[in-house]
Amino acid sequence: MRNDQDMIGRRFGKLIVISREPSDPGGRRRWLCRCDCGGVCTATTGNLNSGRTTNCGCRKSPDLTGMVFGRLTVLGRSDRRGSRGRRTTPQWECRCECGAITYKATDSLKSPHLSMCAACAAAYAASGARAAAGFVEGTQLSKIRDMTPGKANTSGYRGVYHVKRHDYWRAEIRF
Ligand SMILES: [Zn+2]
Ligand SMILES: [Zn+2]
Repeated sequence: MRNDQDMIGRRFGKLIVISREPSDPGGRRRWLCRCDCGGVCTATTGNLNSGRTTNCGCRKSPDLTGMVFGRLTVLGRSDRRGSRGRRTTPQWECRCECGAITYKATDSLKSPHLSMCAACAAAYAASGARAAAGFVEGTQLSKIRDMTPGKANTSGYRGVYHVKRHDYWRAEIRF
């Protein structure tokens, strides 16, 4: 085991190790790293040494320029960042249908009630929110279209989950 000072200041890809973080539940040592893009993240010694973690996640984010999310059209990447707990996430410059410019992180764009500017969000909250969110017969269409797995998802795919009691995988879609 090397001591902490051997890691601090070292570069792994786009990351530079800043300080020691509390170890993960498995007892692996974790480090707070700053990315060349300005973001920060934590990574284990193993992931850094093996090259599995070489950036804060910025490399993984696909270019969304020109794409439309709800009322927002993505104009391009911005140098603004939003916070997610201890992490920061890059934000996209977006134009709302109403003409306002707003900055959103990728996950906010994909969230139906956040894919609009603050003024539109306030108006939306005031007017029947369920109808505005695209509910049809109790099902939110945008949720079906959005293939991002939910927080409790273990399979990595929407609608696919593991049935523990019988030990099989189940895929389903409901309307
Ligand atoms: Zn980065
Ligand atoms: Zn708007």
